[in-house]
Amino acid sequence: MKRNPFEVPLPPFYKDDRAECHRVSDPDVFFPPSYREGTAALDAARKVCEGCVLIVECGRWAVFTGEPEGVWGALTPKQRREFRRQLGLADAGTS
Ligand code: SF4
Repeated sequence: MKRNPFEVPLPPFYKDDRAECHRVSDPDVFFPPSYREGTAALDAARKVCEGCVLIVECGRWAVFTGEPEGVWGALTPKQRREFRRQLGLADAGTS
């Protein structure tokens, strides 16, 4: 297994048998080179999350912890920052 390029801890759900990412051989899929909408790498990450029964819990975790990198719960860092802004939480990153 490769290390993700940002040395970001994988979400706590990663080791959960129900998580789709538990079955992904390369966790780098969650760290696409660009978070730009419509890119193949971002779509690939979202496709994994969209088939996951933990998508809501994972997205909530990523929003509330302010995780600045990675695609968690099918959400990009930009989407999570927008949720945090709407919830009145401090911004935790700039990606
Ligand atoms: S939503 Fe995505 S990152 Fe989160 S546990 Fe499921 S597969 Fe993993």
